[in-house]
Amino acid sequence: MLTSKEIRRIFLEFFQSKGHKIVASAPLVVKNDPTLMFTNAGMNQFKDLFLGNVEIKYPRIANSQKCLRVSGKHNDLEEVGIDTYHHTMFEMLGNWSFGDYFKKEAIEWAWELLTSVYKLPMDRLYVTVFAGDESEGLPYDEEAEGYWRNFIASDRILRGSKKDNFWEMGDTGPCGPCSEIHIDLRSDEERAAKPGWELVNQGHPQVIEIWNLVFMEFNRKADGTLEKLPARHVDTGMGFERLTMALQGKQSNYDTDIFQPLIKKIELITGLSYGSDEKINIAMRVIADHIRAVSFAIADGQLPSNTGAGYVIRRILRRAIRYGYSYLGVKTAFIHALVKTLADEMGDYYTEIREAAGFVARVIREEEVTFIRTIESGLNRLEEVVQNTPKGQKIAGQKIFELYDTYGFPYDLTSLILRERGLEADEDGFKREMQKQKERSRAATELTTSDWIELQTGGDVFIGYDALESLTSVARFRKVKSGEKIFYQIALIETPFYPEGGGQVGDTGVLIFGEEVIEVYDTKKENGIILHFTKNLPEDLTQPVLARVDTRRRRNAERNHSATHLLHFALRKVLGTHVEQKGSLVSPDYLRFDFSHYARLSDEEFQNVEDLVNELILENIPLKEHRDLELETALKMGAMAIFGEKYGERVRAIQFGPSTELCGGTHVKSTGAIGLFKIIQESAISAGVRRIEAVTGQRFLAEYRRNLSTLEKLKGLLKNPKDPVASLSNLLEEKNKLHKLVEQMEQAEVEQYFKLLSAEYADKNEEVLVKRTTLKPAQVKDLAFRLKQRFENGKFVLGYVSEGKPGLAVSLGDAVVRAGYNAAQIVREVSPLIKGGGGGQPHFAMAGGSDSSGLDEALQKAAGILSVI
Ligand code: ATP
Ligand code: MG
Repeated sequence: MLTSKEIRRIFLEFFQSKGHKIVASAPLVVKNDPTLMFTNAGMNQFKDLFLGNVEIKYPRIANSQKCLRVSGKHNDLEEVGIDTYHHTMFEMLGNWSFGDYFKKEAIEWAWELLTSVYKLPMDRLYVTVFAGDESEGLPYDEEAEGYWRNFIASDRILRGSKKDNFWEMGDTGPCGPCSEIHIDLRSDEERAAKPGWELVNQGHPQVIEIWNLVFMEFNRKADGTLEKLPARHVDTGMGFERLTMALQGKQSNYDTDIFQPLIKKIELITGLSYGSDEKINIAMRVIADHIRAVSFAIADGQLPSNTGAGYVIRRILRRAIRYGYSYLGVKTAFIHALVKTLADEMGDYYTEIREAAGFVARVIREEEVTFIRTIESGLNRLEEVVQNTPKGQKIAGQKIFELYDTYGFPYDLTSLILRERGLEADEDGFKREMQKQKERSRAATELTTSDWIELQTGGDVFIGYDALESLTSVARFRKVKSGEKIFYQIALIETPFYPEGGGQVGDTGVLIFGEEVIEVYDTKKENGIILHFTKNLPEDLTQPVLARVDTRRRRNAERNHSATHLLHFALRKVLGTHVEQKGSLVSPDYLRFDFSHYARLSDEEFQNVEDLVNELILENIPLKEHRDLELETALKMGAMAIFGEKYGERVRAIQFGPSTELCGGTHVKSTGAIGLFKIIQESAISAGVRRIEAVTGQRFLAEYRRNLSTLEKLKGLLKNPKDPVASLSNLLEEKNKLHKLVEQMEQAEVEQYFKLLSAEYADKNEEVLVKRTTLKPAQVKDLAFRLKQRFENGKFVLGYVSEGKPGLAVSLGDAVVRAGYNAAQIVREVSPLIKGGGGGQPHFAMAGGSDSSGLDEALQKAAGILSVI
C-alpha cells in the first residue's frame, strides 16, 4: 500500500516528467487580493498569469497546494466532520498549462496517472463534461468528451450542468468549463445493486469527485458577463486526501494515514475510541481536521483575532474546542497537544509547520484556555436565562442569539442543552436575529466594484524606488461603492506611488491633469495592478498626467521602514534568534513590530535594543539595495525571509551593514537619515507574541519635547527644586505619613463611639439603641462589627451624614438573629425614607441615600421594627 507521502511524491514526479516545473505551495492566507481571504484552490497564486497581467515564465507548473475552504464562494465548514470527505484545510494536487497544452493532454495525462501509475481500477471511474448553458451562451463541451472516449466507455461519461461543470474561483475572476473524475468506492454488492453513475455528484460519501480539470477560457466580470481571456489555460485540482483514501482502500479520508495519527492521539487523550458512537466520531473528525487548518494558518502568519481572516481562524478553532468540550467531555485545553503529532507527520514536506510547531501550540493553548472560560460563563448565562423564563415558555430567540454572538454558542449546542432539560428554543426568533445581524454587517461592508474601463494595457510598473514624480498616462480606472461612499481607483502606465505592502502604508500625493489636481489618498496593489485611490475623477483621463508623491510623508515612512529592519536585527541580537517577525506596520508616524518572544523585555534588554539600533543609525551605514537576486542567492547572503510571505524566484534584498532582509519597501539612502530611534511602548498581543511601537526622525523630536514639557510642568508644581525626583518622593512619603495619621484618628473615633455605646447599652439592657454619629461609612461598618461581637443580644441602629449624604446601619447580635430578626430586611424597608437603598446580611446591613431630612425618621422606624417582640 502506498503511503500518503509516496502518493504526493509520485504526483509531482509524474508531472515533472511531462515538462512541468514543480513549485512550492503558496501561503494559506491571501494578501493583495480583496476578492479572496484564503487560498481556496491551487490556481489562486496564478490568477495574474491567467488574466494576462504578468509575463509567463514557465508555461507548465505543478504543485501541492494548501487550500482552505471556509469563507466566500467555496465554504465547506458546516460539512466538515459531519461527512468524511470535505475538509477545511486540504491539499490540492494540481497541474497547469499557461497558454500551452489544452484539453487533449490534460485528459490524457490525468487518465495515465490514475490508471497506469496509481493503478486505480478503471471500472470504478466516471467522468463528467460540461453540458453547455444557454443563458450564458456556452456550448456543450464536445471536444472534451471526444478525448475521454479514447479511454472510457461512453456510458461512463456524464454531462453536467453549470453548477458542477463550470468552475469559478469567486464572484469574479478566471473561470471555464470543467471535466471531473469521480470514483465509486462502494462494495461489489452495492455496486451491483445500483450503478455508480446514478450517484455521481449526489453527495454519496463513497461515490466522490477526486479530480477536476478546468479549461480556463473566461474572466467573470463584476457585471456578471464573461469575457474571453487572452489565452487558453489548463487548471487542474485533485483532492490529495480523497486520492489517498481511494489508493489505500479506505471508506473515509479519516481512515487514511494522513488523519490516523491525529485520531489516535485524540483517542489517547480522551480515553474514548473512534468508531464507537457517531457523535464521538464527528467530534474527533472535527478536531483532527480543524487542528490542521488552524496550525497551518498560524504557521503562515495568521494569528487568531477579532477581525477578518484572524476571526475566521478563531472561529474554526472554537468549533473544534466546542466539539471537544461537549462531546468528548474534555473540559480543559488539549487540542494544542496535537500540534506536535501534526508537525511530525507533515513537517517533512511542509517544513514551516515543523519550524513553527512550538509557537503554534502556545497560541492554540492560550485560545483554548480563554474560550473554555467563555463556554463556562456562557453555560452560567444560559442557566440564568432558563431560570428567568416562565415554565412552559420557549427560550426567547433573542437570548439564544445573545449566547451565539457573545459566547460563540451555536444554535445547535444551545438547543441540545435545552432539549436535555426538556426545554424548547424559539428557533424562528433566533433566525430572525441572525438575519438582522447579517443585514447590519452587509450594509457596513458591502463593496461594489464596477468593471475596469481600460484606456491602454498596463498598470503594473512601479518606478518609486528611484523617482517620486513621473509624467505618465492613465492605463485604466474604475468606480467603487462602499456603503454610501463612492471612490475611484486609477492605474497609471508607470507610477512612483508605493502601493501598501510589506507593512509599509501606501503613498499619498497628487495626480495633475493639466490644470486639474486630483488628490490620491491611498495606494494599493491588486493582482499586480497598482491602484491610486481618489475621491473624484478629472474631466479628461486621456491627457498626460503628472504623478507626484507626498515626499515628506514618504520620507517619514522610509525612516520607519529602515528602522524596523534595524530593530528586527537588534532584537535577534539581544534576545536570540527565536525572535521572528509576526507582523509589522510602517507608517509615516510610527512603526509597530510584532515578534515571537515569551517574556516582557527587561529594562536592560530594552536599553540594549535601543542602543544597538541607534548605534547603527549613528554609523550612517549606506543602503545596499539588491534589486534583482535569485531567491537562493539572497538566502545564502543571510537575508531574513518572513513566514507566510510569498516570494517569487527573483527577490529584492535590503542591506544595512549586518542587517539583510528580503523586502519590497522603500528605504532611506543611509541610516543617518533616520535621525534617532526610541521605543515608546511594549506590550503582549497574544501568547508568545510581543509588540513594540517606536518612533524616529521628527516624531522622535516631538516625543522628546512632549516629555520635556511634562517634566517642566512637574518641576513648576514642585516650585522648581534642584532635584525634582527627590522632592516628589519626599512629598509622597509625607502624604503616606499623613494618611496613616488620619487612619489612626479615625480608629480612635470608632473606639470612642464603641465605649460610649457600650456604656449606654449596659444602662438600657436589651433595648434598641439608636445613635446618630459623625462617622464615615467605613467607620460605621467597623463600629457595627465590634458591637455585634461584643453583645450577643445587641440591637443597634446607627446613622450618619458623610459628605452631605445620609446613611444608616443595623447591627444585630447572634441571639437576636437566632430570634428571627434580619438586618438586611429592616434596612430595605426603611431606606426609602432617605431616598436610598442597600442591603447586607441578617446580622449586619447598611444603606446609603440622598435625602438627610428623612434620616431620623428612618432610624426611628428601624428601631420600631426591632422593638416589636
Ligand atoms: P465537491 O463537490 O466534492 O465539494 P468541488 O467541486 O467543490 O468538490 P473543486 O473545486 O473542483 O471541488 O476542487 C478540486 C478537487 O479538490 C475536488 O475534486 C476534490 O477532490 C478536492 N476538494 C474540494 N473540496 C474539498 C474539501 N473541502 N476537502 C477535501 N478535498 C476537497
Ligand atoms: Mg465543493
